[in-house]
Amino acid sequence: MSATERLYYRDSHLLEFDARVIGVNERDDGAIALTLDRTAFYPTGGGQPNDTGTLGEARVIDCIDAEEQGVLHLVQGPVPQIGDTVHGKIDSLRRLDHLQQHTGQHILSAAFVKLFDAGTHSFRVMEHECEIDVALEDPTDEKIQKAVDLANQTIWHNLPIAIHEVTAEEAARLPLRKDAAREGELRVIEITGVDLTPCGGTHAQATGEVGVIAVRGWERAKGLTRIQFMAGGRVVDDYRHANRTAAATATLFSAGRDDSPSLVAKLIDDNKKLARRVRELDEIACRVRAQEMLREATAKDGSGLRIVRRTLDDCDADSLKRLALALVAQDNVIALLGSRDADTARLVFARSSDASGDMNALMRKVCEMIDGRGGGKPDLAQGGGKNVEAIDETLAAAETSLSQT
Ligand SMILES: [Zn+2]
Repeated sequence: MSATERLYYRDSHLLEFDARVIGVNERDDGAIALTLDRTAFYPTGGGQPNDTGTLGEARVIDCIDAEEQGVLHLVQGPVPQIGDTVHGKIDSLRRLDHLQQHTGQHILSAAFVKLFDAGTHSFRVMEHECEIDVALEDPTDEKIQKAVDLANQTIWHNLPIAIHEVTAEEAARLPLRKDAAREGELRVIEITGVDLTPCGGTHAQATGEVGVIAVRGWERAKGLTRIQFMAGGRVVDDYRHANRTAAATATLFSAGRDDSPSLVAKLIDDNKKLARRVRELDEIACRVRAQEMLREATAKDGSGLRIVRRTLDDCDADSLKRLALALVAQDNVIALLGSRDADTARLVFARSSDASGDMNALMRKVCEMIDGRGGGKPDLAQGGGKNVEAIDETLAAAETSLSQT
């Protein structure tokens, strides 16, 4: 027997009540916990979050089910004394939201059982959406949509929802959707003709109060199907948000709201073609640039080896590599290139097939000068780092190192 009579068991629409304070305790975390002889505040449990509201002048920020010790109301503000009578007031919008999500879950879970014999293993009300884990084999969008459609039919038929107090023996004879989690007296929630399940949560008086159910997504999780759904006011909020997002996207195309997916797909396709074209043009530009650089580069000794050392601005890693490859396509060339690519220092070392030198070893040797890392093959190596200021001296050090080997 609990110390607190739970008024929400009989009437989930009771939002104000008077009660006597029977316990005032400071908890280890410093919060003050009030116990009352009766309460309409729902404590967290069964996947449903607690109510909030006021007790007298104090604000109720959390409610905990302490079983036999009753319901603990964690409060902030002026604390009443033991024996005081306090007036309790539940935050009605939060209660209505929880009632819609929770009752919506009964209705959706019943639909999965009726259509696919798929039971619900767990349920959670979260900040924006709810989750159920359902034993649904081979889930598909179509199957889940079918269950949502049936659930909405149940809602719109506005079926009465009744509460029955039954003994364990009586419960054993009832076709309950799930087994009772507790012993003794049971509270069974009946949605006429649709569902019969033991539950201690707060429910609608008729299914119409839930308004509507919508599914946002689903995934396979731990051998079950995890379904993200929402009910009632949350669906309206989410629709408003989704509509605004879709309309804003469509406006960018000067198109109708629902035309966006095909227009975005076309844009992505066009972008891929453009990127391919830019790459082709960059290859041509790199070849021309490489010719200019090679004309300026003179062999320093009788070997005929030309070393091209250059720092470029705003050249990305791919373009820098293309330029290096265009340079070493000629005989007897070593390219030591660097680039300031946004906040990143990039290096590419490459050599012609007939030139000597290990570009990988060279890159590994100098990369720490730009606070970075790099490597590759003997004829081509790449590196990157954070110190863009040190690119010039790093390339100079690389050239010095080459002449010493
Ligand atoms: Zn319930």
